[in-house]
Amino acid sequence: MVNDSHFEKENFRSLIESDEIGNVEERLNVIDVFLNTEEHVTLEEMMQLLKERGFDYETEFVKQCMNRWVVHGFAQKKLFEGQPPRYEHHHLGRHHDHLICTKCGRIAEFNDEEIETLQLKIATSRGFHMLQHKMEIYGLCSQCVSQRTPLMPLAMAKSGEKLIITDIMGGTHARDRLTSMGLRRGDSLEIINNNGLGRLIVGHGTTRMALGRGIAQKIMVSLPSEKPDEADI
Ligand SMILES: [Zn+2]
Ligand SMILES: [Zn+2]
Ligand SMILES: [Zn+2]
Repeated sequence: MVNDSHFEKENFRSLIESDEIGNVEERLNVIDVFLNTEEHVTLEEMMQLLKERGFDYETEFVKQCMNRWVVHGFAQKKLFEGQPPRYEHHHLGRHHDHLICTKCGRIAEFNDEEIETLQLKIATSRGFHMLQHKMEIYGLCSQCVSQRTPLMPLAMAKSGEKLIITDIMGGTHARDRLTSMGLRRGDSLEIINNNGLGRLIVGHGTTRMALGRGIAQKIMVSLPSEKPDEADI
């Protein structure tokens, strides 16, 4: 990696020198810091890393540098759902896909030859010439799964989760209200949208319904058994 990044830095130097855009040393410092992290960094995180190395540059200058690397093929700009733009290295000839935790934001990389081949096969069989693709899997990382309680209020569920109603708290009034909406213990719910504020939109059978946060605090849900549902595959 050290040789790789040394080579990339020199490659970058010759490109920016030919662009004649000035501030060559400052730009090289920024790329040096970027090449030394293996993370998917936001602009803010880059500013922090630069500060730690004793470089105090304008945010706009750093942003401009990052975008130039994207153009020159040293960095890739990633727009993961629910996150600010992130930059990662662009290693020529190498490819990977991502697992993104919607709770803590952790990003893990993977590369699976079977998936890669299958995607190419699907495109080719439809006479489609594939140029590129992105595969992003959203969910909860192993750490977040292990930290979560088996039983939680529906209000804490994440968009995209499929959960089972385990209990309904509150008095008979709350129970009656939920029963009148057709919600019963043992029913499956799919969280369509929960932004942490206001109402939640959930799927119940073939119906979409809006639930206030108060009532969503009273519905206790748990994860269905961890076995993947074969009908979904
Ligand atoms: Zn891929
Ligand atoms: Zn996580
Ligand atoms: Zn990545």
